[in-house]
Amino acid sequence: MTEYNDILYIVVPCYNEEEVLHETSKRLKEKMTTLINDRKISDKSRVLFVDDGSKDRTWEIIEELHEGDDLFSGLKLSRNKGHQNALLAGLMTAKDLADISISMDADLQDDINVVDKFVDKYHEGCDIVYGVRSSRKKDTVFKRGTAGMFYKLMRLLGVDIIDNHADYRLISKRALEALSQFKEVNLFLRGIVKQIGFKSDIVYYERSERFAGESKYPLKKMLAFAFDGITSFSVKPIRLVTVVGFLVFLVSVAMIIYAIVQNCLGNTEAGWSSLMCSIWFLSGLQIMALGIVGEYIGKIYTEVKARPKYIIDKFINKQ
Ligand code: UDP
Ligand code: MG
Repeated sequence: MTEYNDILYIVVPCYNEEEVLHETSKRLKEKMTTLINDRKISDKSRVLFVDDGSKDRTWEIIEELHEGDDLFSGLKLSRNKGHQNALLAGLMTAKDLADISISMDADLQDDINVVDKFVDKYHEGCDIVYGVRSSRKKDTVFKRGTAGMFYKLMRLLGVDIIDNHADYRLISKRALEALSQFKEVNLFLRGIVKQIGFKSDIVYYERSERFAGESKYPLKKMLAFAFDGITSFSVKPIRLVTVVGFLVFLVSVAMIIYAIVQNCLGNTEAGWSSLMCSIWFLSGLQIMALGIVGEYIGKIYTEVKARPKYIIDKFINKQ
């Protein structure tokens, strides 16, 4: 059996996860120990918990875990910056310390046993391995429906995205280095990672229910996330508006010709209703177009400001 000595960092963003951390750390410890004993990864491998500005005992638990076992490291962000930024903070920290990183949610919804397959695929030469949910049976009908619509819409808009892949994936060191060159502030990692390229593969897994606690992705956050994904990766909405605008222009030319002809024939009437209809229709269309243009301008604005995506408060890690 081949022995490997690659350092693996499992990056776990945590926001108010005090209820699940003990169980998650226990299961990760078991998994890491087996991998280390089987010589699939180095014994310098770590589990890096990223505390995304939690308001509960999450950071205290991470500190306790770190005190009790070298396997556990912790990174504490100065405030809540959202899942994607917390994940990036962890990955960028792992970039300098590890050969391989695996990102995973804290709530045990992602099947930990898949980690073996991730590592095998890496040893077969993959730089990125995507975890894909083979079914969404455990999700609510609403979540399943909206997620399905989201992926369809993304594909329609020409965005390169993998169906039913969340943020459970393996990334090699050099792919992480490539990722660090993406400077955008509006982070939609699963879209950006696809842009990196390199050899990649997919591993399927069953997604289970949250171990404990509630989802940290309420509908509002989910919609904002989807909207971010679309506007960060596709300019098709704005093109659609241009096309609609052009068609409306053609129709209006025809209308003007028609109106002039009617006028010459002496058929004109006080067309109040048609006038009102067109004013309302066009105003609506213009406002919609302005809204979408504004969305892109908003994006340019945040990109130009180039604020730091996260600020690290503390970093504890035993080498
Ligand atoms: N999370 C985070 N910051 C946030 C919201 C969520 O770090 O502002 C973490 C959370 O602790 C979890 C992961 O992101 O590890 C995914 O969140 P959750 O499981 O609540 O989302 P769902 O699975 O319901 O979509
Ligand atoms: Mg979850």
